[in-house]
Amino acid sequence: MSEEASGAPGCPACGAAWGNEVMACTASDGREFRYGRCPGCGLYRLTTLPGPAEIAGFYDAAYYGAGERKFPALMDQVRNLFLRRRATRVAGWAGRAAGRALDVGCGDGRFLGHMQGLGWQVAGTELPGAAFDRAQKIPGIQLKAGTLTGGLFPPASFDAITIWHVLEHVPDPLAMLRACRELLAPGGLLVVEVPNTDSWQNQLAGPLAFNVDPPRHLYQFGPESLGRLLARAGFSIRRRETSSLEMGVIGAAQSVMNGLIKPRDLFYDLLRSRGKCPGAPAAKWISLLLAVPLVPAGLLFTVAETLAGHGPALRLICEGAANSSGGS
Ligand SMILES: [Zn+2]
Repeated sequence: MSEEASGAPGCPACGAAWGNEVMACTASDGREFRYGRCPGCGLYRLTTLPGPAEIAGFYDAAYYGAGERKFPALMDQVRNLFLRRRATRVAGWAGRAAGRALDVGCGDGRFLGHMQGLGWQVAGTELPGAAFDRAQKIPGIQLKAGTLTGGLFPPASFDAITIWHVLEHVPDPLAMLRACRELLAPGGLLVVEVPNTDSWQNQLAGPLAFNVDPPRHLYQFGPESLGRLLARAGFSIRRRETSSLEMGVIGAAQSVMNGLIKPRDLFYDLLRSRGKCPGAPAAKWISLLLAVPLVPAGLLFTVAETLAGHGPALRLICEGAANSSGGS
């Protein structure tokens, strides 16, 4: 336990002192975690930020998936389609056919593989482990083990930097964004995507929302808090999107199930463990049966919340602010 929110210097996004409002969440192993909410920008943060050793304990082998893939074959193919589309979109936002891309927390490197296929030079950072080992098997990725910090690459090395669902996991997201600012070449692009606390599914399900994922998500971001954090790190926002079918459909179905079945996130864990996760057999069967109506309903719900501007993900496409070099 390294830092009590009440004694911390303040919100990393807006600098306000933490308020007393707390959201209590039960993790899939039954432990309870509490998030404090910033009265200035709405950022949620675990009331006690865990130390590095404790954080490592939140990620068992099942988190990254057993064997060669994170998900079963069919889901893996669907995921691959989404990743390929993601690469095409990043190249489009960057407005260039080729360039140098860095993916922070690159997982198994598949997204970078697609960027490379488009003609880009690619680099990634990832913590040592199963995902890192998979990324190493993709030729041509300049892969670095560990968290992104200053000095890992020369300044202004990249035309596009992406951070997909990583920022909410790191103890110091402002430091990570400032490191990105330093690494971004003039005219370059930063793309940050996190789960969206402003989504309808989060608003309705509250602490039961799939997106909350306690305790791995140390922070919970919404448009206001992430926008302020980016501004503080020296970025200006060019475009904002909240669409994410790949997160929203399972997320909406799982959020409903979390109100009915324990442990939390059982259906999702069933999918990624191929049925081998902890849980009573009856609860597993009920999850699978409930998925039959809930997954199609989740699709409709996700489309509706996205059309209303309150989709499950928050994706901000940013550029370096003209009058900033990453100052406070
Ligand atoms: Zn704040």
